[in-house]
Amino acid sequence: MSTVEQKSTERRIARRHLIIGGARVQAADGRTLIDYDPATGEPLAEIPRASAADVDRAVAAARNALESKEWGHLAPADRARLLYRFSEMIRQNQEELARLESQDVGKPLREARADAAVCARYFAYYAGVADKISGQTIPMPEGFLAYTVREPMGVSAHIVPWNYPLQITGRGVGAALACGNTVVVKPSSEAPLSVIRLAELALEAGLPPGVINVITGTGGEAGEALASHPGVNQITFTGSVSTGSRVMELAARNCVPVTMELGGKSPQIVFDDADLTEAVPAIARGIFQNCGQTCSAGSRVIVQRRLHDPLVEALVERARTLRLGPGLSDPDMGPLVSDRQFERVTGYIEIGRNEGARVVTGGKRPDDPSLARGYFFEPTILDGVSNSWRVAQEEIFGPVLVVITFDDLEEVIQLANETEYGLVAGVWTRDIKKAHHVAAKVKAGQVFINTYGAGGGIELPFGGYKKSGFGREKGMEGLQAYSQVKTVCIKYQ
Ligand code: NAD
Repeated sequence: MSTVEQKSTERRIARRHLIIGGARVQAADGRTLIDYDPATGEPLAEIPRASAADVDRAVAAARNALESKEWGHLAPADRARLLYRFSEMIRQNQEELARLESQDVGKPLREARADAAVCARYFAYYAGVADKISGQTIPMPEGFLAYTVREPMGVSAHIVPWNYPLQITGRGVGAALACGNTVVVKPSSEAPLSVIRLAELALEAGLPPGVINVITGTGGEAGEALASHPGVNQITFTGSVSTGSRVMELAARNCVPVTMELGGKSPQIVFDDADLTEAVPAIARGIFQNCGQTCSAGSRVIVQRRLHDPLVEALVERARTLRLGPGLSDPDMGPLVSDRQFERVTGYIEIGRNEGARVVTGGKRPDDPSLARGYFFEPTILDGVSNSWRVAQEEIFGPVLVVITFDDLEEVIQLANETEYGLVAGVWTRDIKKAHHVAAKVKAGQVFINTYGAGGGIELPFGGYKKSGFGREKGMEGLQAYSQVKTVCIKYQ
């Protein structure tokens, strides 16, 4: 494309803004980035490229709101009312949010609609908690009274990846606001659009300016400035292990606590007494949803030998029927988010072949010429995989399922646990003893038995063992990171 053509394309695209202290603003130095449409590879929006100066402004706005009459001194029941109103506002604008996220991430519209609905539910769920966060009284010798109160952390920073911007922002920000914090959210520059709109809706719902601020830009610049900012009191990071480690280093300099929601290589353990009519659709959904770009994707099937052939046959048949297309056309599977992600997935197929895997379906870009410009990749199954191979150990983050075979119970537990990750595990069996045995022995933050995922799992504590991270989001457990305990002790005799 010539420079003139590029300029004219870019002129037609929407220009977005940061949200700081309730205002829509550009980066202080006026720099911008282009956000691309993964279905076409064309520019989709121009977004501000925030620098450290913009992060300063956002943290200061969050601090002001924290100390304001309108938020910091609000009665908990009034905070709850605002969060309910926000939840309803998200619901009313669900279609707009879903379309933004579908186009930006590339996910099928129906998945994006579900994400927007889940985002609304997080705010409703945590609204219900806002006026029930209480401390304890502690038994002490006569003449003493001791009690605890839970206070907000202060300014809470949320560094969000590109794969589920609405859900991940909802789960963290919902819990943070319920506890009385204010937030600065940094979405990924690959997919920031739904989060910017979410913050606008918060203002329309009546949340005071500065309670939710949004900074867009690169991870290396805006992300680092936020993670190392001395005015931030708590950080919730969701993303890759390497970036998470860097965020921990930066946060450590200011002694700021972090929650780390990192990657996974989650096993789907299928015993030979499993009900395949239930297991097959759930396993396929667990890997092909959002084109495999899901931290909790069940990307490793470990199947008992007798059921190997029927299971693989059924999964291949299912994978071959999936329709691919741009997210907004609501296909079964959209494109990968970026060319970088496309290269990564393609590279892993090559690695798998070299390691000895059989590509039983997929493994390449689809032949359909109408999809040639986007980052589409066929649903892929690699069979005959050994658990020690790279394709079984590393997070591919694409629509690639690896199949490993096992013979007995102790072997499958060992295989399931032999990775650096421990986010989720699925167990498929009709034998309740086996199911509980595996649930007890598997090292993962969540275990699903004869199901996988649970409609977003708003109420279910979620987080990792090992390199999948630490701290928990979602459910009541998700509140822990966003408040701190003060103990008061009085001698009255
Ligand atoms: P990423 O680590 O590249 O980026 C995550 C966020 O960090 C983005 O907003 C990015 O801009 C920012 N960032 C990048 N470099 C930074 C730096 N040096 N300092 C501060 N911030 C920086 O991850 P991604 O590619 O956006 O997302 C995919 C990864 O996220 C996968 O590994 C996936 O498993 C993980 N993930 C985990 C969960 C979970 O809940 N456990 C959920 C979704 C995604």
